[in-house]
Amino acid sequence: MSTDKLVDFDEVLTRYEPVIGLETHVELGTASKMFCGCSTTFGAEPNTQTCPVCLGLPGSLPVANAMAIESTIRIGLALGCRIATWCRFARKNYFYPDIPKGFQTTQYDEPLCTAGHLDVEVDGETYRVEIERVHLEEDTGKNLHVGGSTGRIHGADHSLIDYNRAGIPLVEIVTRPIPGAGAKAPEVAKAYVTELREILLALGVSEVRMEQGNLRCDVNTSLAPIGSLEWGTRTETKNVNSLRSVERAVRFEMRRQAAVLDTDGRVFQETRHFHEDTGTTSPGRSKEEATDYRYFPEPDLVPVAPDEEWVGKLAAALPELPAARRVRLSDEWGISPTEMAWLVNAGAVELVSDTVAAGASPADARKWWLGELARRANDAGTDLAALAVTPAQVAELIGLISGGTINDQLARQALDGVLAGEGGPAQVVEARGLAVMGESDELVAAVDAAIEGNPDVADKVRGGKVQAIGALVGAVMKTTRGKADAATVKRMLEERLTVS
Ligand SMILES: [Zn+2]
Repeated sequence: MSTDKLVDFDEVLTRYEPVIGLETHVELGTASKMFCGCSTTFGAEPNTQTCPVCLGLPGSLPVANAMAIESTIRIGLALGCRIATWCRFARKNYFYPDIPKGFQTTQYDEPLCTAGHLDVEVDGETYRVEIERVHLEEDTGKNLHVGGSTGRIHGADHSLIDYNRAGIPLVEIVTRPIPGAGAKAPEVAKAYVTELREILLALGVSEVRMEQGNLRCDVNTSLAPIGSLEWGTRTETKNVNSLRSVERAVRFEMRRQAAVLDTDGRVFQETRHFHEDTGTTSPGRSKEEATDYRYFPEPDLVPVAPDEEWVGKLAAALPELPAARRVRLSDEWGISPTEMAWLVNAGAVELVSDTVAAGASPADARKWWLGELARRANDAGTDLAALAVTPAQVAELIGLISGGTINDQLARQALDGVLAGEGGPAQVVEARGLAVMGESDELVAAVDAAIEGNPDVADKVRGGKVQAIGALVGAVMKTTRGKADAATVKRMLEERLTVS
């Protein structure tokens, strides 16, 4: 897809210093839209959730959604922002089919929340991400390009528009430029979005499903020669739709821009698209000519003036935030901050917590999510949370192991079945016949066969070379295809080989 030349990532850092920045759009989970009473339910028939207000028909008048304003203030408070005592909505004028009004109602020079910060941790080091602003606006409709192979407008026969999404409250969270992360820049970007997502979840303001577009990220990246007093020209990679992709997008842009700068080329200030399949970016619209949006204060809406008492109440009622919660959970689970950081980086805190809540021990829950399940997510190229297994199912699997029904190896096979959609762990164990063999006739026969088949080894054990028994256990496990319990097999062998 991309013919860009790339510099090795480690080499980039020998000559250049990256600066990143993130703009995150969060669709709020309010029942109705930002300026009208239309429903916001995801996945409804196209254009069934519209009205004269969100379609911008003449004579219709908007009314701001109080719950959306409250949610935005709560996000601002959780990020340590200053909350405006008075601010207005503005019209951002542009013509595009997905915006039926001919303008987007947003906030321009009077955002609701400003000057916050979010601390993120990468490899034991804390990076402070300054938040420039958090403002409230409305989402656009969705264009659907039909007839082409890519779903993009290029090559399509015709385009359809669904206005169900138009007017859904959208919060934009903009960071200040983040310098100084060096080689960790891709991970800091990912850690920031991960932490932000956790906060939004804790606040309960959005479903934050990246795959449904509830949370969309634009990632800015620039490079400057080491020691340079000026920052380089940045590119803006649009709609990066998974946590993993945030990291990949920064990494790719750093490698691509280094190659451009190495040949005395110029990095263009432009919008780029990220491609999930190849992990590359390609140019979109050029930002050489800044669009004049002719912003002006929205005349149809009254200013927003949150009074101090209300904001104080909202601040006092904020839930336990993820950072504080992690400290508490580390304590409850008896793990170190470093071990907690591994869980955070793997996006596994909630998953482990839910697995523990479903009855598993913290140690077992961590072992499965960070071990086998992390490996499978990595192989599948997805985030841990996107795996087709629930924390309750993982707890069930762990229960089957501790109850002696299956061992770790059989559990991995049971997991295959769960991930393939064959049902819950117990169901798969039953259907695939995975239960550990008890001291059945079949197992007795396998043990006897192992002794008969390996007389030399058996003699060694009889002669006192106890560790040689491992080879016999292995032989039994092989004939029983892993279904026997190794400890039971060992005990049975010992009983037969002990010289009395
Ligand atoms: Zn409407």
